[in-house]
Amino acid sequence: MNVPFYDATREYKLYKNEFDTAISDVICSGGFILGKQVQEFEEAIQNYTRAKYAVGVANGSDALVIASDILGFKDGAEVVTPVFTFFASASCIARVGGKPVFCDVDEDTFCMDMADAENRITKHTKGILPVDLFLQTADMERCTEIARRHGLSVLEDAAEAFGMQTLCGVSLKHAGTMADFGVFSFFPTKTLGGYGDGGMIITDNEELYKKAKSYRVHGAVKKYHHDYIGYNSRLDTLQAAILNIKLSHIDNVIYQRAKHAAQYRELLQDVPGIKLPVIKKPNKEVNYVFCLQVERRDGLDSHLKEKGIGTSIYYPVPLHLQKCFEYLGHKKGDFPVAERLCEHVLALPMFPELTEDEVSYVCESIRRFYGC
Ligand SMILES: *Cc1c(COP(=O)(O)O)cnc(C)c1O
Repeated sequence: MNVPFYDATREYKLYKNEFDTAISDVICSGGFILGKQVQEFEEAIQNYTRAKYAVGVANGSDALVIASDILGFKDGAEVVTPVFTFFASASCIARVGGKPVFCDVDEDTFCMDMADAENRITKHTKGILPVDLFLQTADMERCTEIARRHGLSVLEDAAEAFGMQTLCGVSLKHAGTMADFGVFSFFPTKTLGGYGDGGMIITDNEELYKKAKSYRVHGAVKKYHHDYIGYNSRLDTLQAAILNIKLSHIDNVIYQRAKHAAQYRELLQDVPGIKLPVIKKPNKEVNYVFCLQVERRDGLDSHLKEKGIGTSIYYPVPLHLQKCFEYLGHKKGDFPVAERLCEHVLALPMFPELTEDEVSYVCESIRRFYGC
């Protein structure tokens, strides 16, 4: 049996007519750049997440750069961000001239350790950039409180967190809606993924919204009139048309992913050498990446590959040990939790159209490796 880590073609085959119609509608209309499907998708995202404003951009990394630029993460301003995340969460700060200030992560949620983050705040700190990772959001309630106390901006990297919710105050809030700006990525593997690159910036602040909307079209407030030096970064109309269909199926997608996660948990619960993902209350998780912490990780990884099973290591190298961040002067041992995670994490196949038999086969192969 072959079990891919991720396969987008199964979903396409399920809803082929819907996708094909949406794609040909765009091509027939000729509205390739900021066509009406982009606005429809932005409104659908606002409705789903209850964010006031949404701006479609070219990808999640651009969304982070544009938001960092607008929030003023530049001229050496310090921005606290975790070391265990995708590169773009930190590069966006450096890209616009700010200084990423790294902090460690929580060993259960893999998200920013808020106590450690607060300890790293100085008089040069301008913002906090928490990341909602794998299954659950960062502790956004605490983050908001810290930011308010120190007068900082918050940019929530919800690139991979579409649909996740957490209790903030008295209500459940969607990932991305608990900061000055939140961003989503629609990279194909994400829970809400397109057939290419795509991204979005969301906010409740009208002024920030207007800036983001102009920054994606070279800082123009009307065509050929530039108030800012912006970017060329728009959500492609074809991707928006595809994403509108994907969004209409999202609740089922989240449900199917949860079913696979429950099956993994049941079949792997008593395997020695494995730590299953931990959900910290009051989070309402979405199973974007189902990531184990395991003993003899590289051995297990090779064993699963031999069995025809796709896996992934998110993330093999923490950000403070990346060559491009050498100038920040960190060394091995500075962020022990993240460093330990990098050596023990292994993500299993996770996408809605996995079958029960495939999940069973993955678990059986893992059990065999650990001799049980
Ligand atoms: C995927 C991802 C991004 C980048 O999104 P792209 O659309 O690939 O540019 C940024 N941050 C995190 C945490 C991500 O998982």
